[in-house]
Amino acid sequence: MTFTAPSWVPELPFDPPDGIPIADFMLEEHYGRHPLGYSKSPFTCGLTGKHYSSLEVKERVDYLARGLAKEFGWSPNEGSEWDKVVAVFSVNALDTLPLAWATHRLGGIQSPVNAAYSAAELEYQLKDSGAKALFTCIPLLKAAQEAAQKVGIPSNRIYILEVPEKFAGGKSSPSGMKTVDDLIREGQKLDRLEPLNWEPGHGAKRTAFLCYSSGTSGLPKGVMISHKNVIANTLQIAVYDKPYRDTKRLPTEQTDYTDVALGLLPMSHIYGLVVICHASVYRGDGVIVLPKFDFTTFLESVQRFKINSLFLVPPIIILMTKNKSVLDKYDLSSVWSIFTGAAPLGKETAEDLQKIFPSWAIRQGYGLTETCTVVCSSSPDDIWFGSSGSLLPAVECKIVTTEGVEITGYDQPGELLVKSPSVVLGYLHNEKANKETFQDGYMRTGDEAVIRKGPLGHEHVFIVDRIKELIKVKGHQVAPAELEAHLLTHPAVNDCAVIQVPDDDAGEVPKAFIVKSPAVGLEENDRMVARQIQKHVEEHKARYKWIKGGIEFIDVIPKSPSGKILRRFLRDKERESRRAK
Ligand code: AMP
Repeated sequence: MTFTAPSWVPELPFDPPDGIPIADFMLEEHYGRHPLGYSKSPFTCGLTGKHYSSLEVKERVDYLARGLAKEFGWSPNEGSEWDKVVAVFSVNALDTLPLAWATHRLGGIQSPVNAAYSAAELEYQLKDSGAKALFTCIPLLKAAQEAAQKVGIPSNRIYILEVPEKFAGGKSSPSGMKTVDDLIREGQKLDRLEPLNWEPGHGAKRTAFLCYSSGTSGLPKGVMISHKNVIANTLQIAVYDKPYRDTKRLPTEQTDYTDVALGLLPMSHIYGLVVICHASVYRGDGVIVLPKFDFTTFLESVQRFKINSLFLVPPIIILMTKNKSVLDKYDLSSVWSIFTGAAPLGKETAEDLQKIFPSWAIRQGYGLTETCTVVCSSSPDDIWFGSSGSLLPAVECKIVTTEGVEITGYDQPGELLVKSPSVVLGYLHNEKANKETFQDGYMRTGDEAVIRKGPLGHEHVFIVDRIKELIKVKGHQVAPAELEAHLLTHPAVNDCAVIQVPDDDAGEVPKAFIVKSPAVGLEENDRMVARQIQKHVEEHKARYKWIKGGIEFIDVIPKSPSGKILRRFLRDKERESRRAK
């Protein structure tokens, strides 16, 4: 049985264009975007208020592309896109997206890197993606330089993406290092670039973004996201939301139907990148860019910029529900919609928030890096807490049992398979993972779902469990295989397995089961050894990957006859022992 969008969802007005780069779709007016000139500034700095109009953004992209072309010796129609990979290791900045669009203008690829990464984690992505240049911000410069040196990116190929001075600790760019503004200034003096000579179908084959995801198992892999994928999901989101956006009441003091959106979530993750930076901007919304989460700054920005639409992840919502007295200090009356995704939002948490803000539409969306974000989302007219809403236009889903038998009714759990124009091209140089994940036009999500009929009679998707080997800490991906490989480099570890355990604040955190090495002396107590192992992770891995769920020493890691770790067994055992406590 194939599930599709409910009847109230309009069909796509046109096929997602597949012969143009994303920026044409975003910045030109032929593709139904909110008309230039009427829209708000696409990006405004939430700390300083600095912003550029749509027209200025368009110009900056053009000049920056010229500057980059000269700097790198690249031209739009020559060379493979894989020789034009630009990595971006930065907190959110005003020019993050203009930089991506300028890179695309040269036929290149942007590979965004999680700003929480350590130098070693950045090094892995730089090497794997084959990045030729690296853009970073002042606070992350040291780690960026260390990683770049390790992979042979010369220091004159490291550039600075400006972030507010206050955030950069008052430091300005070191002399001799070029900033995005420098490149734009240089580009202004250069000739126009030749147009990209793409033909229909080109944009469906060309990678625009190389984001990293571990998929259903193994280490983080480069996910090849085409221009068409981004355009398709942008269009799908915009069309899905259109019926109520056209009719919704206008929040106080608002004079048009566009929103002011919160741009706090990392632009390096598919949610921030596509839902906020593309879908919102396409609809003419203004995005208030914040470099990093800070509760006070977040609330101040909502008040100062009269933000209407909050894009959040569950841990921030939990923080809000636990701190009503802090929320009370701010005027949040401009908000009408809140959207959450990247990890499950508990029904009780949604109810708690609704009690505090009865008028807010609390919406949940579900998606993956591999579906270039949103597969389904709740509509403000049909909210059902716990559900991830209805399917977007042009999405088809199937649910299959572990034996691969298709489920034909409601309320029966199985793995969710997705077909959509936004399903990505595949993983970079990883045929095995591609074969396992992309089958017969469907993407295997590794998530367990059920379809239920909602109060208004429409089909809703509920994500009920995760089958794949993935831990989601505050919405960030943690690949058990990555932590296990790292733990095995510690002399006290003979074997190990990492699983997720629930956590009130982060949603989930990693827990490690460890078989101690015979080298560990009897006199060394478990607590001390555990602390040393934790430290080994803390010194090399991003904070959200730390083993906050604790370490448990066991005699043997349960494995299948083929040597596969039986994580499900460990998870079930863990659940039982927690229930018993
Ligand atoms: P990422 O590629 O980092 O976006 O991670 C995608 C994964 O996050 C999905 O496969 C799910 O396991 C999880 N996820 C995303 N949104 C939701 C949601 N609304 N409810 C439950 N899990 C979610």
